[in-house]
Amino acid sequence: MVKGLYFHIPFCSHKCPYCDFLSIVAPDANHGEYLSLLLKELELYQDLEFDLRSIYLGGGTPSIVRPELYADFFERLSKHVNLSGVREISLECNPENYSLEDFRLLKMLGFNRISLGVQSLREEGLKALGRLHGVEDCLKSLDRAQRAGFDNINIDLIYGYQGQSFQELQRELDMLASLPVTHVSFYLLTPYEDTVFGRLYQKGLLELPADEVIASMYQLIGERLEDMGFVHYEVSNFALAGYECLHNMLYWTHEEFLGLGASAWSFIEGVRFGNSKSLKVYTQKVMSGQKPVAYQEKLEGKESLYDYIFVALRTRRGVEKSLIGEVPEGLEDFFEVEGDRFRLNRRGMLLINEVLLRLMDAILKPC
Ligand code: SF4
Repeated sequence: MVKGLYFHIPFCSHKCPYCDFLSIVAPDANHGEYLSLLLKELELYQDLEFDLRSIYLGGGTPSIVRPELYADFFERLSKHVNLSGVREISLECNPENYSLEDFRLLKMLGFNRISLGVQSLREEGLKALGRLHGVEDCLKSLDRAQRAGFDNINIDLIYGYQGQSFQELQRELDMLASLPVTHVSFYLLTPYEDTVFGRLYQKGLLELPADEVIASMYQLIGERLEDMGFVHYEVSNFALAGYECLHNMLYWTHEEFLGLGASAWSFIEGVRFGNSKSLKVYTQKVMSGQKPVAYQEKLEGKESLYDYIFVALRTRRGVEKSLIGEVPEGLEDFFEVEGDRFRLNRRGMLLINEVLLRLMDAILKPC
């Protein structure tokens, strides 16, 4: 049963230097036509069974699309799938895009969760990250969303960028404490290969904080957000009680979801598959009635179990002890036990990639 629908809106007004998502700067793009393509792609999956709980519009910059187009989109979407069980409809927004009236219309359309791409609450941070908006834009946008009636608001923030000091992060967290947000996604800046930052980093032209500083920053973020009442429920995500992102939890609990749009990923019947990252190829395929899938992997038997352990250990729920047996020697310091479950502690979450690789090595090692 497909529980979640993800729509990828690939358009952006500029390309951020750290971004490795599919994002296309195309001022002349016809957003209405692209939304129609998404629905046409959905028609190719009519053989699936849907029991939808969440819808997520991510990007790119979904807020580059006028809300009036979403009104038409949702009306047509409701003719394809039953939306009556949907509890969460999220929209990723950039702070500079929507007015109060826009947010009001989005609320009327049924959106009930806004995820605002704030990235930094310091002007220095926004500049270092190459963002176009200022701190004031973020605060105004938050205020507008709240005044329009949104009571479930996430902000995305980035730490560990060039020039960020521990004290700067402290100031940012002080400011965060007064904001009307129910969820915070706090990501470590990663200089991915195919990005401007990645290339600068390779050439030694981007200086990121040392590992010990990053570790102290992660610790500080966790402690301060917990003091503010947030639960650290996933490696990079914090929520007030009851405001965990339902849609993302589908990813981390191996539930089925369908991703539509260029570069979108899906997980259905044990198969992970991804669409073409080329907007041109995506468009051609959908227009000719073919699924635009470019990559796929069938998870079977133990692979499926290991994949489950991989994603579930990202969360505070962790995994059933019986799936791992004992925590392998040398990894004890990264785990904690709650009832019949293992989960990563904060240190384990910080070093999750390394810990999971070592865990898999140990589980896979022949006796
Ligand atoms: S970070 Fe967001 S706004 Fe910037 S290019 Fe990527 S998707 Fe677009």
